[in-house]
Amino acid sequence: ARLHGPDTTCDARPGWPFAAATGDAVAVDLERGTAWAADLVARDQAVLWHPYAPMPATMPAVPVVAAHGVTLELADGRSAIDGMSSWWAAVHGYRHPVLDAAVTAQLGRMAHVMFGGLTHPGAIELAERLVAIAPTGLGHVFFADSGSVAVEVASKMALQYWRGRGVEGRERIVSFRSAYHGDTFGAMALCDPETGMHRMFGSALAPHLFAPEPSPAFGEPFDASHLAPVAALLTEHRRSVAAVIIEPVVQGAGGMRFYAPAFLTALRALCDEHDVLLIVDEIATGFGRTGERFGSDHAAITPDIMCVGKALTGGYLTLAATLTTPEVSHHVSRAESGALMHGPTYMANPLAVAVANASLDLLDTGGWRADVARIEAALRTGLEPCRTRPGVTDVRVLGAIGVVELDEPVDMVTSQRTLLDHGVWLRPFGRLLYTMPPFITSDDEVATIWRAMRAVVDEVTA
Ligand code: PMP
Repeated sequence: ARLHGPDTTCDARPGWPFAAATGDAVAVDLERGTAWAADLVARDQAVLWHPYAPMPATMPAVPVVAAHGVTLELADGRSAIDGMSSWWAAVHGYRHPVLDAAVTAQLGRMAHVMFGGLTHPGAIELAERLVAIAPTGLGHVFFADSGSVAVEVASKMALQYWRGRGVEGRERIVSFRSAYHGDTFGAMALCDPETGMHRMFGSALAPHLFAPEPSPAFGEPFDASHLAPVAALLTEHRRSVAAVIIEPVVQGAGGMRFYAPAFLTALRALCDEHDVLLIVDEIATGFGRTGERFGSDHAAITPDIMCVGKALTGGYLTLAATLTTPEVSHHVSRAESGALMHGPTYMANPLAVAVANASLDLLDTGGWRADVARIEAALRTGLEPCRTRPGVTDVRVLGAIGVVELDEPVDMVTSQRTLLDHGVWLRPFGRLLYTMPPFITSDDEVATIWRAMRAVVDEVTA
């Protein structure tokens, strides 16, 4: 038997390979664990569809049976540090006592209630708190159930805004190459049309407009020429553009690119000049990930519409929000419908809202700033030596995000095997090997992550 970290609930289920908790550790029957893991993998492959995967799957999914702190417990008895924060979400780690308590307390009141015509204290509190921490001027909040839906809502707001102003034909949105805004049809239409995952849907998507990737890179000097292609698009399509949408400072799933905040500041001014709305998608960047509370804060701008999600609930439950200004709300509400035409069943779900409020309590202590800076410094030092390896085209770190870019696609199966052998969970994509660990990741754990990344780099560049 081998020892796992703290846990108290693992022993209750039939088929569970963990023996009863002893003190703050759990003993694992490795032999039973391996057989159980194999059984789970086979059953999973028979029936389950995974993200961006064929059916049946060609790659087995790794069964996770519990998680605490930054650690994922795997069914086979191994454990791994989650260097992905469950896709940018679990910033405080797993089984956080404050977040657990918030969900439990809310369960004692109500798990859910419809939001049409009803409201509840948690939703009111969360909306007020989002308004208080968001860039000044974003006074109104619409809750959605995922990031993609928040982007759909933002797009609807932009289109309805122009209807409310009595202007016809403003239905196109300017987005950027390498952008990623979600997987639903409206959001897909705003993702990079060529290198994105949604190329095959091209002809079924709304025809939006694409500017080159935002530039220059973070830390490089910006000048007006960087924004010229956007200015040209806005001039050429001045009667049809409703809004510009952008991921602030970090383009995430479309390429993990970091660009100069001055681009964003100048884009805000350009949108004002051309009288079009600016939508900022903070779904990946929000709540401290880049070293500022929001990506927009690097550029000191207020967008007209802002989307948040992912880390909003500390990775516990799915919830997103679209914030906007009273000016936009006013015109949206004057459009022919007299209302914003959206209303998800699980809007402002009380459990999700309760844990989001608790997550904001944790962020309010301000400790995340030092943690993100500490992780940033450690990733910089740890990953920098990769730069000189043949086959590595770039190493970049911003906030609690570390990226090694290679000149060839990283093989997911072999790299994940190496990473797990080093006790780390990451999900490389394309030519990118990257991490965005929970803010509570200790120095030793961050070192385990960059060592594992270096091992992959050594392997692929050997
Ligand atoms: N926008 C951005 C910037 C994202 O990173 C994501 C998720 N990767 C989304 C939108 C979509 O969010 P969700 O997966 O919750 O629909």
